[in-house]
Amino acid sequence: MITVVGSINMDLVVGTERFPKQGETVLGNLYTTVPGGKGANQAVAAARLGDQVHMVGAVGSDAFGTQLLEGLEKEQIDTQGVKKTDGASGIANILLSEGDNRIIVVSGANHELTKSDIDAQKKAIEKSSMVILQLELPIAVVEYTLKLAKELGVPAILNPAPAGGFTDAMKQADFLTPNETEAQELFGENWELELERYPNRMVVTLGKNGARYFDGEQHVTVEGYPTQAVDTTGAGDTFNGALAVALVEGSEFKEAVRFANAAASLSVEKFGAQGGMPNRPEVVSRME
Ligand code: ATP
Repeated sequence: MITVVGSINMDLVVGTERFPKQGETVLGNLYTTVPGGKGANQAVAAARLGDQVHMVGAVGSDAFGTQLLEGLEKEQIDTQGVKKTDGASGIANILLSEGDNRIIVVSGANHELTKSDIDAQKKAIEKSSMVILQLELPIAVVEYTLKLAKELGVPAILNPAPAGGFTDAMKQADFLTPNETEAQELFGENWELELERYPNRMVVTLGKNGARYFDGEQHVTVEGYPTQAVDTTGAGDTFNGALAVALVEGSEFKEAVRFANAAASLSVEKFGAQGGMPNRPEVVSRME
């Protein structure tokens, strides 16, 4: 079992011909709501690949909260560790225009998750083969979960995204998975050298170019799988969910990264973060 401790959001996607200027109103041409949040996305990625997933997080008592829970349950994800708060669910307001996006995340219920909520999940964490975390929850809760997992002897993947919340204590995570921008933010321009401090532990994702890590002797680039990208939202989340699945199954680090690249390359072929997340046979056939 994999336990994901992370954010659960509704993505409110709005499209317009052009971004409005300050104080201006424009008419939009698209509005859709799709489930998101890095935690929920990574949980869905792992569940589609066949793992039993236990989700720990929080949603609000609004209609989005109910929809978000139902969405996770449809993916066979255990939501008993998701608490319902009195307030609103987390949302991401995603404005799409001019081939670009502008995003505002309002944390809502996600920021009401506490250390005692994590304590209440101690048994589930103890039974897990891997814990996955990101940085869309209160920082103290992320640090606390990492410490608890370590005490319980359960390995943890920390996807340090968004990079702003990263602290030195988090370097203790068994696996770190920044994308290139996050790696630069965390470790500066020389992030490639920093990889050497985390042999077979830190892997930096490089978009269509795949991912890079240090194997203890040399730097290794695991090439991405070339594909026609339609929407890269959630590529990183798919990578993380798939990496967890492969590591739990005992794959060598390089093989796990290859599996994660294959899964993530499939995810960019369809719209939406969760929309394109592949199942196991699709990943296996991409790797052949
Ligand atoms: P996002 O924020 O878009 O979800 P990210 O910035 O966290 O993603 P990236 O490094 O862009 O992470 O991508 C993660 C992984 O997804 C890459 O390591 C690669 O395996 C795969 N990937 C991303 N973009 C492409 C692409 N255009 N073609 C093939 N694979 C891709």
